[in-house]
Amino acid sequence: MHKNELRRDPISGNWTIILKNQNHIERIIQKVQQRPEVSTEVCSYCERHEHETTPEIFAISEVPRQANEPGWQVRVIPEKYPVLQIHGHLNSRGIGIYDVLDGIGAHELVIETPKHGVDLSEFEAPQLEKVLTVYKERFLDLKRDNRFRYVLMHKATSDGEPGFLDHSHSHIIATPITPLLVKEELANARAHYEYKERCLFCDIIRQEQEARVRVVLEHKGFIVIAPFAARAAFQLMILPKRHETFFEWNSELYDLAVCLQEIFQKMRAVLNNFDYIMVIHSGPNIIAGKQRGYWKTLEKDFHWHIELTPKVLAFHSFEASSGFQVNPVPPEDAAAILRLGTWRDESNSDQ
Ligand SMILES: [Zn+2]
Ligand SMILES: [Zn+2]
Ligand SMILES: [Zn+2]
Repeated sequence: MHKNELRRDPISGNWTIILKNQNHIERIIQKVQQRPEVSTEVCSYCERHEHETTPEIFAISEVPRQANEPGWQVRVIPEKYPVLQIHGHLNSRGIGIYDVLDGIGAHELVIETPKHGVDLSEFEAPQLEKVLTVYKERFLDLKRDNRFRYVLMHKATSDGEPGFLDHSHSHIIATPITPLLVKEELANARAHYEYKERCLFCDIIRQEQEARVRVVLEHKGFIVIAPFAARAAFQLMILPKRHETFFEWNSELYDLAVCLQEIFQKMRAVLNNFDYIMVIHSGPNIIAGKQRGYWKTLEKDFHWHIELTPKVLAFHSFEASSGFQVNPVPPEDAAAILRLGTWRDESNSDQ
């Protein structure tokens, strides 16, 4: 039996325990959380229910239409119960050793389709492109506000209120401080650049293209890899091959949409109707940072990317107590299985 490995992710700095026992793989594929059957009901995110939601911020449609009327293809509304609110000042203050800011930010909900019960992972490329375009527009708009240090796109298929679950949606959150996970990535990318004068992500892409064991697919300007120290089974990272700091500056969103459609098809072939988390890590808001002279080499050292993580039912309680993630499917195996788009063939040919 192979020895398990502790692997360090150069981007996040986190260590993951990679289990090398292949017998786990089938069990883990079965443990990937499945989304329940979709309801055929309608909800207030559905087309023709526009007046039941908060008034829309933005929408795209192919026909002329009034705000809050049918005819849209992707629609953005303020989250009804925002974690952060848009109005007011930050009021930075200290209470003894504790720092406090008022809960200023933006929390928007992207309704990714007028249709109920179809998830983003099942979309065709043209609809995916529309969703990506909406993300881009919202990133550009929110980054005009210098109170916001960071804008994050976050999608989790099993979050939110029951009933709304079946209507595909994602969150855009603008925050007055950079989230810790992103801060770690920014710091590690900057440190790598200071030392090597090269972008860490570009170096990873080059190495993965040479090794070809963790590349799942390449499509035009994009590459999908299973990261060397993937924190979870079948976790993937999608990157533009050409160096680019900000997602919202990308002009090849149709190619990205095709790439995403292809990767979702492969994942669904292996993991069925799986639950997942998807995030976009773009560069921080330079308007907000400039005031303090932050991010001098940012445009050379940071490289935007998408992280896609299937949800697997808890594997080791050790994770919660230690901060070490345990990944029972080595990324090399995950990449090979996803490239084939099937687990059965793989296991049969091996045994
Ligand atoms: Zn609905
Ligand atoms: Zn780069
Ligand atoms: Zn990231």
